[in-house]
Amino acid sequence: MRTWRLICPVCGKTYDKLVQRCSCGEPVEFEHFKGEPYIAKTIWERFWDFWPVEPEMELSLGEGDTPLVKSKLGKELGVKLYLKNETVNPTWSFKDRGTFLSVSYAVKAGHKTVGTVSTGNMAASVAAYAARAGLNAKILVSESASDEKLKAVSVYGADVIKVRGDYGRLYFESLKLGEKLGIYFINSDNPFRVEGYKGIAFEIAEELTPEYVLIPTSSGGLFRGIAKGFIELKESGLIEELPTLIAVQAEGCSPICRAFKEGKARIERFENPKTVAKAIANPYPPSGNAVLKLLHEFDWKCTTVDDDEIIEDQRELAEEGLFVQPASATGIAALKKLAKSGEIEEGAKVVSILTGSGLKVLSHMPAGRISNCLLEELENCIRSGS
Ligand SMILES: *Cc1c(COP(=O)(O)O)cnc(C)c1O
Repeated sequence: MRTWRLICPVCGKTYDKLVQRCSCGEPVEFEHFKGEPYIAKTIWERFWDFWPVEPEMELSLGEGDTPLVKSKLGKELGVKLYLKNETVNPTWSFKDRGTFLSVSYAVKAGHKTVGTVSTGNMAASVAAYAARAGLNAKILVSESASDEKLKAVSVYGADVIKVRGDYGRLYFESLKLGEKLGIYFINSDNPFRVEGYKGIAFEIAEELTPEYVLIPTSSGGLFRGIAKGFIELKESGLIEELPTLIAVQAEGCSPICRAFKEGKARIERFENPKTVAKAIANPYPPSGNAVLKLLHEFDWKCTTVDDDEIIEDQRELAEEGLFVQPASATGIAALKKLAKSGEIEEGAKVVSILTGSGLKVLSHMPAGRISNCLLEELENCIRSGS
């Protein structure tokens, strides 16, 4: 095992042993790593110095090293736009990066069972990597999770438990019970998970020097991971300047942006969250205060977008061949606003993170151009299509 200390990014208290959260209630993170990149095939090996635990490469399913695709949408917005396509990860979202590193730790530490609290992408990701590593998995989901979603989790052989009760409390309850029962819970902002997300920053920096990075934000784990990745690159002398990071939230559930706008140091629970972007609808994000601190410290941005904008941009991305889920289209919707207001200047290099695949959530989708035809009429049917 490597040597490290954990630190609370909010109160500054340090820990020599592994804890899930600080005694002040906030998340903890590994102190910054420094290093240099190596020539190797995978992101894990190229940035070998930067992980708190040695990645167990035989447990890898090929997560990370995702494409950075130049977008046609940039032209009409007057910027150079690149899309970091995380939908091609093994379970179709960036969550796999964090799950892989967390499971690497769990196996080394001798855990037999891992768990998570999620209804969507993280549930599938933890179930898949537990299967890969031969671990048991306990997946705690809210009562309202749809059967279709849960099938895509239980297929991996995990125990899926629908919990009736306050979903916000479930996060903290799971950490308590995990300790008691010897189950390693890999929740949304688990310190190893956040480390795994740094790879997104490293891969972007390998290809270009962005001025802005748009990050769909719910619990705040992804935002913290990408931020820490860029900060470690700068402290290692591998980049000269940090990009401006932009947290993007759905208007119908935006506890972090609201607190930021009001100049507050702490988030408050967002009552009655309602948005089509279910993957970013955490009303009381466990890393909310930590993200808020980063936004204040670096003078970064927080932008909200509404459901109509999200659905429109989901369609526009599909029109250039990228089908993402609603949460993942929020970056483009935010970019449109910021480019229009001049907050993102003309010609800027911008990266938007496409966090997860559209195939995961089809229920809200309009049907598109689908028609019926008799075989005898086929020529006419084909001719009449556009
Ligand atoms: C989890 C998730 C997010 C948000 O990540 P957080 O770490 O919870 O902030 C965004 N988009 C998709 C598709 C996700 O699955």
